[in-house]
Amino acid sequence: MSGNQARLNAISHITNSDPKSGTMTEPLSKIWACDVFNLAAMEEALSKKSFKAIKDTVQTGAPLDSATADAVAAAMKDWAMAKGAKFFSHIFYPMTNVTAEKHDGFIITNSDGNAITDFTGSLLIKGEPDGSSFPNGSLRMTNAARGYTAWDPTSPSYVMQTANGATLMIPSVFMSWTGEALDKKIPLLRSNAAMNSAATSVLSLMGEEEIAPLNSSCGAEQEYFLVDENFANARPDLLLAGRTLFGAAPAKGQQFDDHYFGAIPARVQVFMQDFEDKLYRLGIPAKTHHNEVAPGQFEIAPYFEAANVAADHQQLLMTLMKSTAKEHGFLCLLHEKPFAGVNGSGKHVNWSVGNATQGNLLDPGSTPHSNLNFLLFCGAVIRGVHLFGPLLRAVIASAANDHRLGANEAPPAILSVYLGEQLESVFKDIKAGKLLEKAQGGLMDLGLSQILQFERDPGDRNRTSPFAFTGNRFEFRAVGSSQSVSGPLVAMNTMLADSLTWIAGKLETALADGNDKTTAVILVLKELMEEHGSVVFGGDGYSSEWHTEAVARGLKNIPTAADALPVLKDPAVVALFDSTGVLTPEELSSRFNVYAEQYILSIEVEAKLVVDIATTKIYPAALSYISTLVDTAKSLEKMDLPLDKGTLGVAVSNANALMESVAKLTEAIDKHDFASDEEHMSFCAATICPLMLEVREAGDALEGIVADELWPLPKYQEMLFIK
Ligand code: ADP
Ligand code: MG
Repeated sequence: MSGNQARLNAISHITNSDPKSGTMTEPLSKIWACDVFNLAAMEEALSKKSFKAIKDTVQTGAPLDSATADAVAAAMKDWAMAKGAKFFSHIFYPMTNVTAEKHDGFIITNSDGNAITDFTGSLLIKGEPDGSSFPNGSLRMTNAARGYTAWDPTSPSYVMQTANGATLMIPSVFMSWTGEALDKKIPLLRSNAAMNSAATSVLSLMGEEEIAPLNSSCGAEQEYFLVDENFANARPDLLLAGRTLFGAAPAKGQQFDDHYFGAIPARVQVFMQDFEDKLYRLGIPAKTHHNEVAPGQFEIAPYFEAANVAADHQQLLMTLMKSTAKEHGFLCLLHEKPFAGVNGSGKHVNWSVGNATQGNLLDPGSTPHSNLNFLLFCGAVIRGVHLFGPLLRAVIASAANDHRLGANEAPPAILSVYLGEQLESVFKDIKAGKLLEKAQGGLMDLGLSQILQFERDPGDRNRTSPFAFTGNRFEFRAVGSSQSVSGPLVAMNTMLADSLTWIAGKLETALADGNDKTTAVILVLKELMEEHGSVVFGGDGYSSEWHTEAVARGLKNIPTAADALPVLKDPAVVALFDSTGVLTPEELSSRFNVYAEQYILSIEVEAKLVVDIATTKIYPAALSYISTLVDTAKSLEKMDLPLDKGTLGVAVSNANALMESVAKLTEAIDKHDFASDEEHMSFCAATICPLMLEVREAGDALEGIVADELWPLPKYQEMLFIK
């Protein structure tokens, strides 16, 4: 078999097979949330009394009594079984970016051997997976590893339909026996509570009489690549690391920009429609989809929802996207940088906070009063990003996202805030004392209403900012495509809670000093801008001038995850999470341990793959090519037609370079005596990653020389362009 047989098979398979035909789509009204046990379904299934009790729990967090839990459990079971479910599962979100579940049957047998079903309130509320194999960052002794899951009634249960059945899925938290958070949901719920309480203090000081519970909202834009599975199966790096560890740049790259917003290829369109129907059934409001910048890259963005529900839906969306892609013969890549030299994938997290009485507090609003509230909340975000920019960098830190951040396609690794021209000038005027003069002159409106209305123009965008105000929300653009949105949401809610508490304190003093509300607000914001205004930046975040200026402004440029993750140990960050009740110091430190371990592991896995692919695929292909050249040279010499040895020389020297680098990398992988995780991470970033690149350079050079028919790995132009 020639070296490229796998590639040839893949190409012929793709050219000869019909794309999976689309299933007949049903009207939206028929499928929307049909597999979700939401409030509407509960209202139908429960008595008036039970429904009122569960609705209170869902909407205001009121505690749940056991009679209601039993009633909800019974109704949920009947509803799910009518849809074919025989099993149920608490679904939870461990500290990795994945989702975990453990399935249990509804069935029990009675003494006559008959199957009956059983599902009580206590089974609904609490489950006990064997938690010992989930990363816990040493929060628990492994032998005392009992973790348990508990139902989160604020995120609706649903039935997951698969080919041969259905399972009732119950969104849950995951905690240790002693109550420590072992997951990504508990901190998110706690961060919402902290934000709610601080925001309520500020709003009461602003004279609001009725204040409904505040919640954060999230709309996440998900970028991804699709690669035909026939190619993916011939690329161990794509299968095991989710990205190509070798691969020369194609002649036609994305420089033509003809893919962005272009027509969606038919086969991809069929996949999207199938996938979106599944989302609709599960009550996930898929809203937009389009081609992205790179060839083979696409985006899907659901409509925004309450952060906790949006986070659960995001996890479900990623799982479904991968499994549906598989049904359509694609490998779905959520990696932040699957192809070198080609645009990477991010996940913009759009975030706002609001409630039923005051509405969205990051929306300027149309009255002078709502404008003041808006300015306070916006100011709180500015202070938060200034004080905790490095934390925001840390919660999006991963080996994969490092390839994307700061690479002139994604926001830089320096956290700054973009406000847009008009809003920035309002905050500048506040800082310069101009608005204070107006306020003291009794000008209640300050002329803000018009300015802030104007600001909503969505055309006013700065794509180079990692953290941008976009009219009625902030968009955190540095989040990676494979990441859970929970970490970023927790960080944003928590820093907002801290800033709102600071604002409440200052506001209280300013009001007690006899200032009217407008003057007090402007006084507080003036002080805030003097201390934190340097984080506001409206220019080109990709430019090298900004990198220099940011440093002069005291903002940190944190290029790698190895530098970013230790921020979780910074005393100011520990105090932030502790004082807001979001994470205890122990819980936070366990997160550092888990993320550091993940970082090290993912780089080690990649490094071993690089060694393996170089040694068992690329080097043999190079030798085959060299030996055909040698044979030809010998024959030609006999005919007195000596072959120019130039190409042979280059092939040999690249093959040698490849194996020399492999030897160095192997030695680096074998080093294990590190004093700390920090030291080990730095070694990965400073030594292992550059050595992987060194091997890759020699490998990619060989790809440019070795005869195409001998090359074993599908090439970039094949994976990116053949549909
Ligand atoms: P763009 O690509 O221009 O940034 P998209 O329309 O693709 O914008 O995505 C914007 C996302 O922001 C969507 O998920 C949308 O629902 C969400 N969004 C809109 N308003 C808010 C808001 N107030 N709070 C949170 N998310 C929001
Ligand atoms: Mg966006």
